[in-house]
Amino acid sequence: MDLDALAFGAHADDVELACGGTLVALAALGHKTGVIVLTRGEMGTRGSAKIRAREFASSARIMGLTVHRMLDISDGRVEVTWTNKLKIIKALRAHRPKIVFAPYWIDRHPDHEQASHLVRQAAYLSGLVKVETGQPPFRPRKVVYYPSRFEFTPSFIGDISGSHEQKMKAVRAYKSQFHNQDRAEPETDGTLIGRPDFLESIETRDRYYGGTIGVKYGEPFLVREAIKLNDPVEFFGPEYQWARP
Ligand SMILES: [Zn+2]
Repeated sequence: MDLDALAFGAHADDVELACGGTLVALAALGHKTGVIVLTRGEMGTRGSAKIRAREFASSARIMGLTVHRMLDISDGRVEVTWTNKLKIIKALRAHRPKIVFAPYWIDRHPDHEQASHLVRQAAYLSGLVKVETGQPPFRPRKVVYYPSRFEFTPSFIGDISGSHEQKMKAVRAYKSQFHNQDRAEPETDGTLIGRPDFLESIETRDRYYGGTIGVKYGEPFLVREAIKLNDPVEFFGPEYQWARP
């Protein structure tokens, strides 16, 4: 089945944190959405590949995804290789998404940076007839980037005021990754995302970006190319009165 929007992440939970609200909002608008995670997360400090796959499935249900898949690229070793590009090309040709979300190309985690390059290159190569996978060629219309650790000046911000609660539910489905008050054992692994205030920082970020466009919650995105606009008067409607100039 063809998708409208497909988000790629290096690891399960990357996508939920950065653009989960947008995916929930798109599904509510009737779009078919999907998430493809490049690795199984076997290098994660917390949890295991098996646990993360289970959490990924329940998060997918919460977000109303049509497709959720894990590719078997090695965690901690996401590299721009032809083999890895082919895996993504096959996925793109199978699901034919109109737009693709990818991690921002500058990040602290090398897997995120490499995932960004891989998805960008695969999105282009997937349109070439002579790249043979036994599937018809297909190129998505646009690659849209979401941030992880490093900020960027957004090209646009999605209003997720109506989907933020569902986003946080999807994030909390990753019980092994985030702080849980009910955990019996002390939290001594020292991971950033395991800290009690991590989920609060996500909420704060969403509040901040929402504030910049005059709504409660927002998620920032970056596109490399300029955006075409036929009628700026119509586009910048009354709600822009309330956005920060
Ligand atoms: Zn990650």
